[in-house]
Amino acid sequence: MKIHEYQARELLADAGIPVPSARVITSAGEAAQTYKHVATDAGLDPSNGLVVVKAQVHAGGRGKAGFVKLVRSAKEAEEAARFMLSNRMVSNQTGPEGIEVGKLLFAAGVDIAKEYYLAITTDRATGRNILIASAEGGVEIEVVAERNPAAILKVPIHPVGGLEPYQARDVAYRLGFEGKQVNQAVKIMLALAELYAAKDCALAEINPLIVTTPSDGHPNGQVLAIDAKFNFDDNGLFRHKDLQALFDPAEENPAEITAQKFGLSYIALDGNIGCLVNGAGLAMSTMDIIKHHGGEPANFLDVGGSATEEAVTEAFRIILSDAAVKGILVNIVGGIMDCEVIAKGIVNAARSYKNPDGSTGFKVPLVVRLEGNNVEAGRELLKSAASDLPTLQAAEDLTDGAEKVCSAVV
Ligand code: GDP
Ligand code: MN
Repeated sequence: MKIHEYQARELLADAGIPVPSARVITSAGEAAQTYKHVATDAGLDPSNGLVVVKAQVHAGGRGKAGFVKLVRSAKEAEEAARFMLSNRMVSNQTGPEGIEVGKLLFAAGVDIAKEYYLAITTDRATGRNILIASAEGGVEIEVVAERNPAAILKVPIHPVGGLEPYQARDVAYRLGFEGKQVNQAVKIMLALAELYAAKDCALAEINPLIVTTPSDGHPNGQVLAIDAKFNFDDNGLFRHKDLQALFDPAEENPAEITAQKFGLSYIALDGNIGCLVNGAGLAMSTMDIIKHHGGEPANFLDVGGSATEEAVTEAFRIILSDAAVKGILVNIVGGIMDCEVIAKGIVNAARSYKNPDGSTGFKVPLVVRLEGNNVEAGRELLKSAASDLPTLQAAEDLTDGAEKVCSAVV
């Protein structure tokens, strides 16, 4: 599960990591007043203090997309807010259709001397959490990794001992922190590592971590977090009621949320062949074989080992809610699953499915490959319901199914 930047900042602040103060708004009408509040709260001039307006969406690359704007007046703040709330944000992480922006963060602006990257994630290769840090922050870490991999430090974290202070200090020096910055950076690294473990994170990222330009009170500048991203391990969420409350359904694909309610694992993809499969491994190989035969899967959908008729009916509704779907491949291997249940689900789904023009039944080609437990009964049932399934083609095996569905959609 992902959360918004404004929520991530609160987690950081609660963990003792310094973050500039901020407020959230949902309409441009609140912008002018909020600009003044944020500037005043931070001890800045409410008529020309630096404030940052930032779109709150679960996608990065906002800066380059024009959805992080520095403003110096209530008027500029309102213009930035109006722009962000009325345009879809298209960044390198959203796809060309972009995403809607419903919330904005107004944060006290800071003068930046240097930007760093700091994150903790799980490294599957070593089976440990690792701290990742770079003095080339601000930009995407993937770009740094490609152009200058030596600029990225990786430090394994002991599963019991956690991140050790000496490790954090070593990283701070290697990143080039000086004087009072060193202890500030060390404190932040240790706090982030503790937060990562305590909240069952999959990613805890601060990008950028910054040093402010020197000022009277801070001759070495201050080390601050000005953007943060968290990803939590869904399998650990049951023990974090506080994190569950941060879930924002507006940021999720609506079909994926419906699927969850019915116990289906559904992930929307870009292609035009809908897949209905029982078992995650089978779903993966079904997508592979579709691609092998020149097709593009529209989704990953695993109805699970013990799906009910209702779940299968819902699965069809979800697949067909994607207007890009031009054909469906059902690939079932009945181990625990009874093929007759799937067949009943297919027939019921066809009988109850309403097309936009008011007619019932599936219009797109439907290729069904059934194998395994009670398969004869399942096949019989489909045959006897042929009038409800005019677009049905039975497949002999997986290759036959993939060939049939691929040629049906071109
Ligand atoms: P992202 O592009 O979605 O990762 O959004 P960020 O919050 O990381 O902002 C992108 C960039 O905007 C940062 O790398 C900074 O260079 C700049 N930025 C963000 N906040 C401030 C600020 O308070 N002051 C200044 N000078 N620049 C900022
Ligand atoms: Mn960022």
